[in-house]
Amino acid sequence: MAQPRMNPANFDFHCHSTISDGLLPPAEVVRRAANNGVTWLSLTDHDDISGLAAAAEEAAAVGIEFTGGVEISIEWRDLPIHVVGLGVDAGSAVLREGLENLRSGRIERARRMAAALAEIAIPDTFEGAMRYAENPNLISRAHFARYLVEIGICRDTASVFHSYLTPGKPGYVDHRWATLEDSVRWIQAAGGVAVVAHPGRYKLSGGEMRRFLGEFRDLGGRAIEVVCGSHGNDNTLHFARQARFFGFHASRGSDFHGPEESHVDLGRLPGLPEDLKPVWRLLG
Ligand code: AMP
Ligand code: MN
Ligand code: MN
Ligand code: MN
Repeated sequence: MAQPRMNPANFDFHCHSTISDGLLPPAEVVRRAANNGVTWLSLTDHDDISGLAAAAEEAAAVGIEFTGGVEISIEWRDLPIHVVGLGVDAGSAVLREGLENLRSGRIERARRMAAALAEIAIPDTFEGAMRYAENPNLISRAHFARYLVEIGICRDTASVFHSYLTPGKPGYVDHRWATLEDSVRWIQAAGGVAVVAHPGRYKLSGGEMRRFLGEFRDLGGRAIEVVCGSHGNDNTLHFARQARFFGFHASRGSDFHGPEESHVDLGRLPGLPEDLKPVWRLLG
């Protein structure tokens, strides 16, 4: 295990850039984090690590610590779940190939989403969403949401998700993502630490969540997000208990996507409950 560093005053280990569905380029995310007082940042774009080099360079220029990250899209018992990898080596062939395969399904999924929306008389959303995707291989539901707001279907992206893009809604289509096992294996092959992203967001019963966390730990997962942009105080207390029970380290991340879209800005989060083991202790 790496030697513990000084307790970083403000670490934020979950955010997005234009490499996936964030609104700012990697270097701007880093500058904004530094301006917000973040002392240690990880950029965790969905299924793509091509922003890490630019982010690391900017972090060195503005004088904050940086750790390479990724947020991997998986399915577990047919439910979409996200696993964050922290401290991943962007040169790892196993990670790169795994993510490349994972990305290759997104364009086809986007075409099926557009076809589903066309059936309810919302045409041309593939082209519309693509205009928002700076990295076309990473076309995401967030890009569809922005386009549906542009054409006046809803007032904001949260409403688009609620009415059109979540399971059971007309623009939602099933998709085969990576497995839990794949995600942990790729992260470990790249020398990283696997972290369950925003556990409070999943539609899992208490028993299913415990089963999931047990499988994750048995596969080599080391941490869960306890403080994050989508957790209220109840979620934080609940997942702090899960972290203690399973022996997980705890992570903290805003899941910032952009100034207009995210409720929680970079680094603007409560601290971790003090008795938990912060995940940065596992990072070299
Ligand atoms: P995808 O990877 O294409 O399935 O898109 C998932 C992304 O959509 C997430 O990372 C969020 O950025 C966004 N998202 C998912 N659910 C919601 C929601 N209910 N409200 C707002 N954004 C959401
Ligand atoms: Mn996202
Ligand atoms: Mn996520
Ligand atoms: Mn995220």
